[in-house]
Amino acid sequence: MIETKQPRIVHDVADLRRAVQEARAAGRSIGLVPTMGALHPGHVSLVDESARTCGFTIVTIFVNPTQFGPKEDFSKYPRTLEADVALVSAHGADLIFAPATEVVYPPGHATFVEMHGITEPLEGECRPGHFRGVATVVLKLFNMAAPDVAFFGRKDFQQTLVIKQLVRDFDLPIEIRVCPTLREADGLAMSSRNIYLSNEERQQALSLSRALRKAEQIAKAGERDVWKIRDVLQTELAATPAIRVQYAVVADAETLREPATLDRPCVALIAAFVGKTRLIDNCLFEPSA
Ligand code: AMP
Repeated sequence: MIETKQPRIVHDVADLRRAVQEARAAGRSIGLVPTMGALHPGHVSLVDESARTCGFTIVTIFVNPTQFGPKEDFSKYPRTLEADVALVSAHGADLIFAPATEVVYPPGHATFVEMHGITEPLEGECRPGHFRGVATVVLKLFNMAAPDVAFFGRKDFQQTLVIKQLVRDFDLPIEIRVCPTLREADGLAMSSRNIYLSNEERQQALSLSRALRKAEQIAKAGERDVWKIRDVLQTELAATPAIRVQYAVVADAETLREPATLDRPCVALIAAFVGKTRLIDNCLFEPSA
């Protein structure tokens, strides 16, 4: 049973570091849950998992400007700090780190993480520079909080691969745990961006999870031809012409390359615009016996 407690809110790196030092001195392991705020039950599931398995849970709330493209929704991204604090208080967070932009990127900041390979397809093609911003801010948060474990959602599948690569390449002594995607009752993956959807768009958005479910069903029924699984995905999406699909693919779950047969863990990934809102979703398939 996770207790309700009032987490400390800190805005400065020095305060964060002091709190982490105290927790370590008390023998507590440090769990980190990086978020951009506008928290929903998907985020909360990561906080729960950290509180369950780590002695001291830090939730970071920072809308990171460097991961947004010039035409993306940085300025209108929802900012709901009070509600976020109330939500994670009931879920065992010990500390909320909510820095101002200048704390993370003081004037003169000039160093960025440039990662090749896994950052390049899919989200990398649709959102140039996105993972440069993600990898940079996550590395900074890791250096600031020095966690033992960091929790990420499978909802952002490619991002989890990018973070794992970052940890490997920079020899970071941090365990990365990937937690399942939380969905609304009708299947829509929870996302801070869902609040942008009108009622009509909310219905159209269901085609993403529906397509993934259909693909999963035929994979589970034994279909091993990746092209056929991809066809099912794309046909289901095409039945909702109001959405604009950016990609709908089946890829190797480690490399994101397209295999011909489903003989290894694969992931179906979709990105689509529903109205002006860009949504992503995915589904992992393990080859069954
Ligand atoms: P964000 O605030 O969108 O940057 O997300 C912060 C973390 O929450 C990331 O690791 C996301 O993958 C994770 N997350 C977002 N939506 C969900 C969801 N529906 N289920 C589980 N985790 C999620």
